[in-house]
Amino acid sequence: MRHIAIIGSGPAGYYTAEAAIKEWGEDIRVDVFDRLPVPYGLIRTGVAPDHQTIKAVSRRYEKTALTRNVRFVGNIAIGKDISLAELQALYDAVIIATGAPHDRDLGIPGDNLPGVIGSASFVGWYNGHPSFTDLDPDLSGRRAVVIGNGNVALDIARILSKTRREFAGSDIVAHALDAIEGSQLDEIVILGRRGPHQIAMTPKELGELRELERAAPHVDPGDLPPAIADEALEPGQRKSVQWLRQFAEDDLAKPLRISFDFFARPVRILGTDRVEGVEVERTIVTDGRLNGTGEFYMIPCHLVISAIGYRSAPIPGAPFDEGAGRFASDDGRISASPETGGLYCVGWARRGPTGTIGTNKPDGFAIIAKLAEDIASGAIGPEGKAGRSGFNALAAERKLDIVTFRDWQKIEEAEIAAARSGAPREKFTLVEEMIRAGR
Ligand code: NAP
Repeated sequence: MRHIAIIGSGPAGYYTAEAAIKEWGEDIRVDVFDRLPVPYGLIRTGVAPDHQTIKAVSRRYEKTALTRNVRFVGNIAIGKDISLAELQALYDAVIIATGAPHDRDLGIPGDNLPGVIGSASFVGWYNGHPSFTDLDPDLSGRRAVVIGNGNVALDIARILSKTRREFAGSDIVAHALDAIEGSQLDEIVILGRRGPHQIAMTPKELGELRELERAAPHVDPGDLPPAIADEALEPGQRKSVQWLRQFAEDDLAKPLRISFDFFARPVRILGTDRVEGVEVERTIVTDGRLNGTGEFYMIPCHLVISAIGYRSAPIPGAPFDEGAGRFASDDGRISASPETGGLYCVGWARRGPTGTIGTNKPDGFAIIAKLAEDIASGAIGPEGKAGRSGFNALAAERKLDIVTFRDWQKIEEAEIAAARSGAPREKFTLVEEMIRAGR
């Protein structure tokens, strides 16, 4: 019998667990740890609440979680409740699947002023992540600036624009729904430091902006390259750029304007007690590379949300590549030795915050193939680690309060029972509430 510990119960964690069962069947025991009492990571707290079809993939993870030899170990933080070295002593392999929960820093003067928020916090807030329940973003101003030209920037602009009616069928948490309904915004500026051809936004997500009840996207036609230049783009990107062309042609008169401001690099956040504006420098882009022009202007605003990508959170004892913001590994393999077993990383913890949810599936299968190689070659020692029973003993000794998958099912039942009409659930937003509902 082999024992695997997976740290993180999001897509990367559960696809890896699924791959382990496919590889070893009954000869494996997999414990999936999460610091929260609830599973599914990014599916629950990252994917936008109005994208329920994407969230439905959690049913697949549930199937894996309910497999007899897989166990969810919630409410346990590795590196705090139990160290990585302790985990390694108990399991043949430890696989880090903790994603990338922290924001990349803007790194410009003023970026720590009140009213400047990172996307991890903002997305966590509207998705009911307990760490961000108290964020309380100030939506009383007329203009917000969202920095970044990726899908997260689009998610944020869309969520900020929707009416209560448009959230029907979503699981946006009540505190965010109320705050967004009371928002005074009449413009959301999406700031891109490069141009339309360099966006990292996908067509479906762009198209959604055109369907909004009270908001409409606007692109300055002068920012668009000649249409013929689109032919050099790969088909998906071409479709995205076609949406931008459509936005430039549209003249939809709606009360909330979503303005794309391209070739605009933020250089300073302005304000004394709180954010009052963003100073940007015009850029020009040659062969994809940006250069400043020395021309600066200011966008007055009351709220800045930076959506410029994420970083993984280090775990003491695991080598970390500070520059890249992810674990240091050889394609997922961190180390393998007869003494400490195998240590691996997978998903965003391995490759950084790129790709779709589905990208984590081949990633999970690839890391299990590496582990199988390491077992076959003898790089990892023989069977005989204590695994699950060893962890249980340590948890009992430390009086750790484990939340099981059965407990989670009770939490989920309570969330479903509390849902407002038409919504799939009303999430608990505090750890204590979750634990209470699970007991
Ligand atoms: P992303 O796709 O990497 O986009 C980050 C954006 O931030 C880029 O436009 C980048 O511009 C810009 N940026 C980086 N540093 C900057 C700086 N210092 N100043 C100004 N702009 C800066 O990241 P993301 O939007 O966080 O998304 C993460 C991953 O999740 C992506 O793979 C995304 O597709 C995925 N996702 C998918 C969905 C969906 O499918 N519905 C929804 C959300 C997220 P440059 O290109 O110039 O660096």
